Amino acid sequence: MQALVKSAAGPGLVLRDVPMPPMGINDVLIRVHRTGICGTDLHIDAWDPWAASTIVPPLVIGHEFVGEIVDVGSNVTDFRAGDVVSGEGHVVCGRCRHCLAGRRNLCASTIGLGVGRDGAFAEYVVLPMTNIWHHWPGIDPEIAAIFDPFGNAVHTALAFPILGEDVLVSGAGPIGLMATAVVRHAGARHVVVSEPNPYRRALAMRLGATIAVDPRERALADVAAELGMVEGFDVALEMSGVPGAIRAAVDAMAHGGGIALLGIPTQEIQMDLNAIVFKMLTLRGIYGREMYETWYKMTVMLQSGLDIGPVITHRFDHREFDAAFAAARSGESGKVIMDWTT
Ligand code: NAD
Ligand code: ZN
Repeated sequence: MQALVKSAAGPGLVLRDVPMPPMGINDVLIRVHRTGICGTDLHIDAWDPWAASTIVPPLVIGHEFVGEIVDVGSNVTDFRAGDVVSGEGHVVCGRCRHCLAGRRNLCASTIGLGVGRDGAFAEYVVLPMTNIWHHWPGIDPEIAAIFDPFGNAVHTALAFPILGEDVLVSGAGPIGLMATAVVRHAGARHVVVSEPNPYRRALAMRLGATIAVDPRERALADVAAELGMVEGFDVALEMSGVPGAIRAAVDAMAHGGGIALLGIPTQEIQMDLNAIVFKMLTLRGIYGREMYETWYKMTVMLQSGLDIGPVITHRFDHREFDAAFAAARSGESGKVIMDWTT
């Protein structure tokens, strides 16, 4: 089968023929239809310090996908050939305290699809049956391809009560953009998006932002005052990982507010904890998706009118992976999709 492979330590990827992935009795074999490019894939392609210390080549990369089941292991009874599915990209241990309690997203021994095991940028991918999400009828196949990052957005957006609240989304990458649509759908009053990139600010407005501001040009307190907020933001979704953005979010919060942290900082961040103490803020780290409450919520919100369609801005044949990665890297993009059916 064809697969996009990190073949050796160093920058770059190659599309090449690799053996079909081996399948165990608890596994499901999926013919991949479409995949989404994640920042993680860009890091692996570029071979940055994180990738160099994490990835062991050769590795088939990629974890955002939709496809169709073609075979199931002998232990698998819940799924059958023809089912349209996506995969939860975190393969958990199943045996630790949290896994046994059903809190699988808290597993400390998670292995990432396309990071710690061969991934989904390929014609076929294998996953344990416990990692399969069977899409409900009517879910758009392109949206299904990005359920993994959509899940990051939903998990973060719903970390604190949203109805009627004033929400700050800091960072309008694909995940911040989807989170903007989610909090709008969930009944936020004002959704302020802070994002230096004008292309992404424009997308944020399409996805339901009240206002999208350039943090280099406008202070958040200013925006809050203009919108008539009483004290500051009730909820912030930190989706940039940028130190200045995190500090700005803390400064802009109302007393008792909640900050959900999804963005992954690439450096240590110095912070004045006094603001957190005296404003009595709650900071919550978010990693991945809840299995499978987040997947359920994604599905039912789409069924009840949530539209994240505008986040998909580019589509490529998988053979054009160089152009697809360039589009994702450029910042002049939302989500970039590759087609593996051709
Ligand atoms: P992205 O890099 O495309 O988006 C980040 C955005 O932040 C960019 O649009 C950038 O212009 C913007 N930004 C830069 N400086 C800013 C500032 N000062 N204020 C506000 N915004 C600023 O990433 P993404 O794919 O949308 O993912 C968002 C973040 O979440 C990344 O940090 C990513 O690594 C992380 N992530 C976390 C998880 C998790 O499970 N915790 C999963 C996936 C991604
Ligand atoms: Zn576990």
